[in-house]
Amino acid sequence: MRYISTRGGAPAVDFTEALLAGLAPDGGLYVPESWPQLSHEEIAGFAHQPYAEVAAVILKQFAGGALTDDEASHATEAAYASFAHNAVTPLVQIAPDQWLLELFHGPTLAFKDVAMQLLAQLYDRALAERGRKLTIACATSGDTGGAAVEAFRGSKRVDLVVLFPHGRISEVQRRFMTAAPEENVRCIAVDGTFDDCQAIVKALFADQTFAREVDLSGVNSINWARIVAQSVYYFTSAVALGAPEREISFSVPTGNFGDAFAGYVAQQMGLPIKQILVATNSNDILSRALATQVYEKGEVVHTQSPAMDIQVASNFERFFFERVGRNTSLTVKSFAEFGATGRISLPDQGFHWITDDYPGVSVAEGVTAETMKETLAKTGMLIDPHTAVAVAALRMGDHGPIIALSTAHPAKFPEAVQAATGRHPALPARVGDLFARPERITRLPADIEAVKAFVRAGR
Ligand SMILES: *Cc1c(COP(=O)(O)O)cnc(C)c1O
Repeated sequence: MRYISTRGGAPAVDFTEALLAGLAPDGGLYVPESWPQLSHEEIAGFAHQPYAEVAAVILKQFAGGALTDDEASHATEAAYASFAHNAVTPLVQIAPDQWLLELFHGPTLAFKDVAMQLLAQLYDRALAERGRKLTIACATSGDTGGAAVEAFRGSKRVDLVVLFPHGRISEVQRRFMTAAPEENVRCIAVDGTFDDCQAIVKALFADQTFAREVDLSGVNSINWARIVAQSVYYFTSAVALGAPEREISFSVPTGNFGDAFAGYVAQQMGLPIKQILVATNSNDILSRALATQVYEKGEVVHTQSPAMDIQVASNFERFFFERVGRNTSLTVKSFAEFGATGRISLPDQGFHWITDDYPGVSVAEGVTAETMKETLAKTGMLIDPHTAVAVAALRMGDHGPIIALSTAHPAKFPEAVQAATGRHPALPARVGDLFARPERITRLPADIEAVKAFVRAGR
């Protein structure tokens, strides 16, 4: 299996090269040359397999010759052994025809662990094989950074630098990053928004001299292997509810469009997904784009669901590329225009029908809070504000059987949950002394040169 760039200006690479590079050298995102196809029987067969085995089958489809069957199985077994639930991502019913898919049983209580735990296994193997060492730069709206720290801390082959927006993430999120004592992990609190952090990381990659000097790699949701890891739970959950005989819909709380794109991938591979609800908070660039065919950046506003306080959804470029028939010149032109003006219109050819299959739904803050309260009253369960955005979105329509992705444990956002429900969500015992451990943080301005100097200094 080969990977090409959405911008058409980079040579095709294999799975491992796409993994280690993150972003393609022409500034595009890697996508597979073609979509692997799973038969009806193969998909139905997933119903009887443990999560790690399904993950190994899907990983192999995308890795091609880059991994043996044994290597794929070893990586997925090791990755998902760190999860506190036997089913890895269990389904919980909340109403007739409505389920939550709990993606937060990993070490940092959010769905980012599902991909990051596997990514660390794949990096380790690939770097050991090549005798290489890398610097991973990671911009985070809160959860990716913690998941990356937990996955890579102590690694002998990876230096990890995490950038998060100062004061805009929850204390639990921050401590999952800053309380790691290992020297190979360094955290920067940037005076700015998540979009500023993401722009800095993109600029580090764009400076090819610097990128080569520090051997830069990226594990943001642009990293292709993360999308692969996330497509797995669409299969396991849909199959548990009767797919491929029955069509299932998903409601996906969305920021960078990584999780939603993973659903698209599962669909391309043959999983009968009826609809993917693209649920956003009031940072609604995606829901607006899908409703109006205009993709236009707005101001980032601070919400109860900070992991989705994003106005530039990196993975949207992959979806765009697909929808315009993989037209690289149109993709280059459109995203250059978006970079310059913050606005593009989405061509009719790929997008006029989109609202039927990928409806965009923006959920107001009050509705999110009300949904947390109502879910507690109706099910006895506390849900986190990101999950609540997905649940609120699915309640706005009649979709048949539908699964809301539950992307974080409520204890990761205790203030918002307490304010909405009057209940304090307890941290699971497995996170231990998180609040007692000392933090290590460097505060920097949203300035590329300052970040470069910091990255160089710690190597
Ligand atoms: C990252 C994150 C999201 C958004 O996922 P994307 O793949 O960026 O769309 C939603 N909820 C939580 C809790 C997250 O950490």
